[in-house]
Amino acid sequence: MRKLLLKSLVQGPLTEPAPPASEAALAELAARVSQVSRQRLGRSLSIREVDAGSCNGCELEIHALNNVLYDLERFGLRFVASPRHADVLLVTGPVTANMREALERTYQATPDPKWVVAVGDCARDGGVFSGSYACVGGVSAVLPVDLHIPGCPPSPTALLRGLLALLESVSVRGRRISPASR
Ligand code: SF4
Repeated sequence: MRKLLLKSLVQGPLTEPAPPASEAALAELAARVSQVSRQRLGRSLSIREVDAGSCNGCELEIHALNNVLYDLERFGLRFVASPRHADVLLVTGPVTANMREALERTYQATPDPKWVVAVGDCARDGGVFSGSYACVGGVSAVLPVDLHIPGCPPSPTALLRGLLALLESVSVRGRRISPASR
């Protein structure tokens, strides 16, 4: 025990160094999302996050969008507490049987135009939880999905890129443009 304590004092914590943050690239990406949301929707972007049964790994990355490094609210992207105020439903996890009705009711409560973004590998097809008796599948098994952001979990930058891709596919009146008409 004493040996282990001494070793841990000398060695320090065994953690990986954080990847270098490219603040300029991030600010540019977030500013672009803000600009496109104002052009296409005439306002900033309001997001309602729905955990349909995730392990919370995806939530940690989504929460990071609000931390001091990313601080997305300065670019007009905000998370809202009610689907009635939302433009985008950001849905994580496989959809569990227990959350299915809540997810459907959240979608019905969101005003048009609205978009559903499935976040993470579980949201695509159930991921590691696929086949569980407790899951009904990916988000598309319950709701029409406009965009899927892959990853387990996707990074905050990947989330921002996904939101930008979604907004760029939206017409000025807020309708979705099919790839053929772009
Ligand atoms: S995609 Fe990965 S991090 Fe996200 S809910 Fe599934 S297992 Fe968790």
